[in-house]
Amino acid sequence: MKGIVKYKLGDGFMELRDVEKRPPGQNEVTVEVKAAGICGSDLHIYHNDINIPIVPPVVVGHEFSGVVVEKGASVGDEIAIGDRVTGESSIYFCGTCRYCRSGYYNLCNSRKILGYTANGCFTKYCNVIYLHKLPENVSFKAGAMTEPLACCVHGVTEQTGVSAGDFVVVTGPGPIGLLVAMVARAEGGNVLVCGTGRDTDRLKTAEKLGIPYTINIETTDAVARVKELTQGYGADVVFECSGVPQAAVMALNMVRKRGKYTQVGLFGRPIEIDFEKIAFFEIEVRGTVSQRRPAWERALALMERKMVDCESLASHEFGLSEWKRAFEMAEKKEGMKILLIPE
Ligand SMILES: [Zn+2]
Ligand SMILES: [Zn+2]
Repeated sequence: MKGIVKYKLGDGFMELRDVEKRPPGQNEVTVEVKAAGICGSDLHIYHNDINIPIVPPVVVGHEFSGVVVEKGASVGDEIAIGDRVTGESSIYFCGTCRYCRSGYYNLCNSRKILGYTANGCFTKYCNVIYLHKLPENVSFKAGAMTEPLACCVHGVTEQTGVSAGDFVVVTGPGPIGLLVAMVARAEGGNVLVCGTGRDTDRLKTAEKLGIPYTINIETTDAVARVKELTQGYGADVVFECSGVPQAAVMALNMVRKRGKYTQVGLFGRPIEIDFEKIAFFEIEVRGTVSQRRPAWERALALMERKMVDCESLASHEFGLSEWKRAFEMAEKKEGMKILLIPE
């Protein structure tokens, strides 16, 4: 079968290759991939500018949905051949460290991740361990976005906490930004999304999804607008989802005293920021990375109950052989969520 392989560390070194279809290990399930999403982090893997270990040669990709076609000997009856599923990007964690024992296996030092240290889902068949069944009303396309949605549930609900009525700002209207915006709205937040002129279509998508406020920061003084909408105080919560240094500076200028700032986007390098403001404003700063089981369950419930619309974010589909075009589109931030459909 064909797979998109990162075959060497460094910028580039990715190609469509023949890869071996491996039978599932004892605890593994083989899933026939129906849809796989290109994540911003896959672009970072391509360019080799991500602070997560990559072990080449490795099939890339960690966001997927599919059908169970084979089970390892120790897999129980809760998973059946033919089940429509998605699966966690964590495929190994030690189970004994402080983080694992408190349920935060996303932080386990020994964690192995699909598409980084083990073969991922940009191929026809993929072996995974921690599966979740897709609700009947969730399509394969939407189901392939469970992983990024779970990341956003972890960031918004578990790490930050949005209370009903909070004024919430999201910087960066990409797929992650809009998922964060939808989760924050589901939590009762009054949400504003900002982007640049390049993001015009993405901001329109945000409006279609029912996000009450959108701003093009190139034509509107975004900080002033946020102040105006919050009686001069600033936002209760800010989620920086763009991974652009200037956006982080702006986001920190939007949050109110004793407000919350959560960094979701990745810069890929150290950035310069006025850290002193966190002291003067008593800002609560948080990080968020990956996700854990409760966030997966909540993500699927949010989709099933139509509180978050992933389907509308799926903008383009490509076969594996067209991966370069798909990656280029993602790189240029064209469209929204770009899916690969293995042929
Ligand atoms: Zn992802
Ligand atoms: Zn551990």
